[in-house]
Formats: sequence, C-alpha cells, structure tokens
Amino acid sequence: MSATVLDGRRVSAEIRDELRPRILSLTEKHRAPGLAVILAGNNPASEIYVRNKVKACAELGIRSFQATPPDSVTTTELLDLIHGYNQDPEVDGILVQMPLPPQVDAQRALLAVDPAKDADGFHPFNVGALVANRPAPRSCTPAGIMALLARYHIPIAGRRAVVVGRSDIVGKPMALLLLHQHATVTICHSKTRDLAEECRRADILVAAMGKPALLTADHIREGVVLIDVGVNRITDEAEVNRLFAHDPSRLQSFARNGSVVVGDVEPRAASERASAYTPVPGGVGPLTIAMLMSNTVVLAERRLTAGD
Ligand code: NAP
Repeated sequence: MSATVLDGRRVSAEIRDELRPRILSLTEKHRAPGLAVILAGNNPASEIYVRNKVKACAELGIRSFQATPPDSVTTTELLDLIHGYNQDPEVDGILVQMPLPPQVDAQRALLAVDPAKDADGFHPFNVGALVANRPAPRSCTPAGIMALLARYHIPIAGRRAVVVGRSDIVGKPMALLLLHQHATVTICHSKTRDLAEECRRADILVAAMGKPALLTADHIREGVVLIDVGVNRITDEAEVNRLFAHDPSRLQSFARNGSVVVGDVEPRAASERASAYTPVPGGVGPLTIAMLMSNTVVLAERRLTAGD
C-alpha cells in the first residue's frame, strides 16, 4: 500500500485562494485588513518567520504593520506598543512573535492583546472559547492541521487520536480541536510511561515534541494517519545518513547546505507504515501561515460587521 502524502503546500494555496475574494470585498467596502506584527530583539529564526508572514500578507493584499523594538525592550515598552495597536482602527489582528527577550513578561504581553485582535488565538479569553467550543481565533498550527484533515476527507469522529506534546500553542489546542470533532483523544508528554504503546493505539497520531525523529517504526501502527509538526534542523552527518539513506535528494541537499530539516518522526518509518502522512518540510509548516491570514481576515470581517 502506498501512503498518501498530505500536501500542506497545496492546501495552504487553496486556503489563500479562498481568502482573496473576501479580502477584495473588505477592501472595496471598507479598507484592506491589517495585521500588526511585533518582533522584539534579533532572534534569527523569528526574523525568518516574521519575514514570511509579512510576505504572505503582501501577496494577499493584507496590510501589515511592523514594530521591531530592540533586544533591550522592557515589559512596559512592549505593553505600550500593544496598547497602541489595540487602539489603532487600521489594525484588525496583532501578533507578538515568540520567544520574547528574557526580561519581558511574556504572559503580560499575551494578556495585553485585545482578544478581538488576537490573530494567534493565544489570549486566555480565546483559549477559553476553544475549550467551550465557541467561535474565536484558533491557534494557527492546530487549526491548519484540522483544515488539512478535512480537505483530505480523513474521518475523525470515533477514532483514536494521540497527540504527543502538550504545549499551549500546539499540543493542547490540537487535542481540543480533535476532541470537538469527536475523536477519543490521548495526550502524551515527556512523563508518559510507555510512549510507543500509547502511539501504537492511534488512528491519528500527531507528533509535536520538537525532538528530531524521536518516533520510529516502533511507535507507528501500520495504516495510521500521521501528522508531523516537528521542525528540527540537523547537522550531524552520520545522523543525516542514517535518517535519509533512502532519499538521495535529501542527502544531496545536506551536501549543499550542511544541514537538513527533519520532523519528530523518522521519515522512512512514516512513509512505509502510515496510510497518510505530512512530509517535513511541506506538510504542516505552510498551513500555519495560511491560518494566520485566515484569522486576520475573520477578525477584519467581525470588526466590520460590529461597525468598529
Ligand atoms: P514545546 O513547547 O517545546 O513542547 C514540546 C512538548 O513535547 C512538551 O509538551 C514536552 O513534554 C513534549 N516532549 C518533549 N520530549 C518528549 C519526549 N521524549 N516524549 C514525549 N513528549 C515529549 O514545543 P512546541 O512549541 O509545541 O513545538 C513542537 C515542535 O513543533 C517544534 O519542533 C516546533 O518547531 C514545531 N512547530 C512547528 C510549527 C509549524 O508551523 N510547522 C508551528 C509550531 C511549532 P513536557 O510538557 O512534559 O515537557
């Protein structure tokens, strides 16, 4: 049986295409939707993420606003920036890029974002709405995974879903979204006693630990639907050769760049044992930005309807 590759790039493009007429309609009726992005300090990975988000906005006709306070920014200065965007009538969505510099109180920053402009769905008000299954912006990565499962017509109701990882931005919201679609959900974490046994029970297995290729053939029941959220850059040649011996294109990529990205699941085990799986890269990653765009458009539509 050959596995279905769940193509996040294709689904992300579909979601963006469906947003275009809505953005056009908002722009004609009122103004272009606006997303404010706060990038504090100079974390290279965050800079790349923000650049991609701003680029995605520009491609769709969403206006983006950027604040780039220095690494030395204080909590008070950051809160002032957030309050400014909360008051700004041109801004529909606000995103505070994590991680923040260590001296900044990240919890206070998240709490300061107006829940009606919370493009990432991280504000406790919106997390509460998620728990209660009420409409609100959802955390982008898990929301993107749900969109992927829906577009590939993967049944969820009544199936066993195992989510490995319990972070506030991926694992927990993922588990809740699957639960609301009537899966029987197990959440695993670093203290789970027999991870392989728990994983082998899954019909849908979501790996979100940030541990390169931690899940192996031993964790993967044949026929499972496998969602790999992990993004791990590896530079160890022996490890690259071990993980990608079956994939000459990735070995060539390593030879060119000195590193490759691997998910939380052993790539060969995923393709040989799952009935459907997300590749890394090109699976979950592209969906996250598409859902950020989608959240921003929904927030703009709500503000327009509310007459703000
Ligand atoms: P995180 O906050 O570090 O959380 C990791 C979770 O994995 C924790 O709950 C941790 O358990 C659990 N874990 C760690 N080691 C484990 C082990 N050996 N066995 C079982 N569970 C283990 O990470 P995150 O922010 O959720 O991100 C997870 C991964 O997804 C990262 O690779 C990140 O880069 C990637 N990511 C990708 C996207 C995307 O768009 N593609 C978006 C977000 C995140 P404890 O709670 O017990 O410590």
